[in-house]
Amino acid sequence: MNVERSVASCLARARSSVERSEAALLLGHVLGRSQAWLFAHADARVDAASEAAFADLAARRAGGEPLAYILGRRGFWTLDLEVGPDTLIPRPETELLVEQALARIDPALPARVADLGTGSGAIALAIAAERPLARVLATDRSPPALALARRNAASHGQDGRVEFRAGDWFVPLAGEVFDVVASNPPYVADGDPHLARGDLRFEPPGALASGHDGLDDIRRIISAAPAHLAAGGWLLLEHGHDQGPAVRALLSEAGFDGVATVADLEGRDRVSVGRAALQAAGRPRVG
Ligand code: GLN
Repeated sequence: MNVERSVASCLARARSSVERSEAALLLGHVLGRSQAWLFAHADARVDAASEAAFADLAARRAGGEPLAYILGRRGFWTLDLEVGPDTLIPRPETELLVEQALARIDPALPARVADLGTGSGAIALAIAAERPLARVLATDRSPPALALARRNAASHGQDGRVEFRAGDWFVPLAGEVFDVVASNPPYVADGDPHLARGDLRFEPPGALASGHDGLDDIRRIISAAPAHLAAGGWLLLEHGHDQGPAVRALLSEAGFDGVATVADLEGRDRVSVGRAALQAAGRPRVG
């Protein structure tokens, strides 16, 4: 057999530019094979076209393109999602937002839930998967992101249950009231050096950066939220590790109760929550 074109030799040749685990994912993608298959078939032949396709993907990865965009998929929660350059790549930290939202949605009740700036649909679809009685609405201002989110909903059999609407934050939800509103908005400060590094370079800037302190969209969402929350309803926002105090202050100023920040698995502030007052639904905007 031609050792230049075995699974093992393809992976070995990519090693100088791409991490081994990523090279294996790329080769598996080209061959339509699982990682388990690759490891069990290190000597299997790779035809020249596949080898060339793999070399092309490895070069893209070596150039910094996110693995999720090259593969067109990313796992989030229990879901395998289509992703693309029109949306942020779902991140494991955001699963904390899903966990915190689920903790506030009674599985036995038909809760009304909104995901603002849904992107790939990750948060909305994860909640819908775990709370079959919930009615989930998801908004995004980007039509290509919504088209992708709808494909993800369809591929998980959730297209009837999650409704997607085009527009900024609460704008397409005029007059609607929710028990839980969750959002992973952009929260990086404009000009933050992280925007010029790693995967972030390839992600939509509008899904990442939000004003001089990164809080412009969070401010907008918090000020509009009271009019869209049922009495005792929760707003949950993902934010940066150093934004907990500022987001809590914004929530308190807007009249929320139960204001708190939850840390992610690395112990970093990641999600802040606030509860609309119990006595009145649809209170007027504050501030
Ligand atoms: N957590 C992302 C990061 O890598 C930012 C995501 C966002 O702005 N919502 O910085």
